[in-house]
Amino acid sequence: MLVSAKEMLNKARDGKYAVGQFNINNLEWTKAILLTAQEQNSPVILGVSEGAGKYMCGYKTVVGMVNGMLEELNITVPVALHLDHGSYDGAKACIEAGFSSVMFDGSHYPIEENIEKTKELVAECEKLGLSIEAEVGSIGGEEDGVIGAGECADPNECKAIADLGVTMLAAGIGNIHGKYPENWAGLSFETLAAVKEKVGDMPLVLHGGTGIPEDMIKKAISLGVAKINVNTECQLAFQEATRKYIEEGKDKQGKGFDPRKLLAPGFEAIKETVKEKMELFGSIGKA
Ligand SMILES: [Zn+2]
Repeated sequence: MLVSAKEMLNKARDGKYAVGQFNINNLEWTKAILLTAQEQNSPVILGVSEGAGKYMCGYKTVVGMVNGMLEELNITVPVALHLDHGSYDGAKACIEAGFSSVMFDGSHYPIEENIEKTKELVAECEKLGLSIEAEVGSIGGEEDGVIGAGECADPNECKAIADLGVTMLAAGIGNIHGKYPENWAGLSFETLAAVKEKVGDMPLVLHGGTGIPEDMIKKAISLGVAKINVNTECQLAFQEATRKYIEEGKDKQGKGFDPRKLLAPGFEAIKETVKEKMELFGSIGKA
């Protein structure tokens, strides 16, 4: 059964580790992440962007697929199904469809409007026992058409949003979605510490987990980050393994064209990536 992310993130915050959010795109992605979480006895959050939700035929299809897998793969570790960077309407649709967690990304609104909309969704999630993530200070890079410059969040604005009763808060600290450019300045730990000071116990979320050096990840966790989003890294691992399979001509040998064989190396590569991240984040054995 899907669970809210609240308990797993509070435990992570107290235990000084982070739970990974891994974004899903299809059946193979979802199966790879769920099986790895179960094998590693780790809590996990499945992230679904609005674009990926559309790609998978809509949120109800996603909920049906994930719930089916939890049952048929005997997944017993805590799993949250979470909307990633949701719009106001998208969050409502996911709540309706049976997600156990949503993110409302109002970071592109003026802070007053972000507060107002977040407040409404907090009330709705509270009623249903769902977790909700809010964002202050946009994350750099591009995600589903929303382009952010990688700004650092204003700690006072973070407090205003945290005080609305959200479960977790994504604060921009110079992090970026996708691959990091060579001249990237690194995470702003000054901002992170200032945000933490204002929001107290609120579990913090680090977006754009792909390509952040390991020592920075560990330092961020020590400063209150309890959830780290990984998306691009699984895509790159899948791409590389699939490319290798085809370049080695394996799709032309015997029944190598069978989609279950063709997609297997990419599937295994996602599993390996998820395991590596769980090791780095410290969530293994914490289910
Ligand atoms: Zn993000």
